[in-house]
Amino acid sequence: MKTFVVLMGAPGAGKGTQAKKLEASLGLPQVATGDLFRANLKNETELGKLARTYMDKGELVPDEVTVAMVRDRLSQPDCVHGAILDGFPRTTAQAKALDELLNEFSAKIAIVPFIDVSQDVLVERLAKRAEIEGRADDNEETIRVRMEVYQSETAPLLAYYDEKGLLVKINGEQSIHQVTEDLTEVVQEVM
Ligand code: AMP
Repeated sequence: MKTFVVLMGAPGAGKGTQAKKLEASLGLPQVATGDLFRANLKNETELGKLARTYMDKGELVPDEVTVAMVRDRLSQPDCVHGAILDGFPRTTAQAKALDELLNEFSAKIAIVPFIDVSQDVLVERLAKRAEIEGRADDNEETIRVRMEVYQSETAPLLAYYDEKGLLVKINGEQSIHQVTEDLTEVVQEVM
């Protein structure tokens, strides 16, 4: 059976950290669209050049481009048993495209854990990450835009998945270790 996990949470909620931990504990690959775009930036591909114009401003890369990249990634052999999607989908159009894509693979989403963190804690964490990692899109203005984009484009997906009975809320303000434990438990139940 294939297990596709969609990890939801605002920027700074800890999706990337937790997706990596789940990758190690569950043996499913982490598919992070932000990382895939950053790899393309680094390698100066055409996709990377296009993505940069959006990423630098904190805006979303267009859906068609993002969906094509995810289709390509999920078609690779390491995803035959499923994957942990981190940072995708971020729009309703992407969520619908994902449903269709998984349908083609005779699969469906197993669970959508939502790492819940309050706005104040998110802003604090992102500012700290900017200092430590020096990510180009972690400055004050892009953080603000990314938060707005999250609220308007991505947060509505929580209701979309809740209606499908897939959403499970995880308290993201606990220790990293405890969040991993909670996540592992809910995902293992559906594997
Ligand atoms: P992240 O590392 O997930 O915070 O993503 C960094 C940036 O990559 C975002 O601010 C977007 O510009 C772009 N990006 C990542 N995932 C997506 C997506 N699913 N749809 C559109 N743009 C994305």
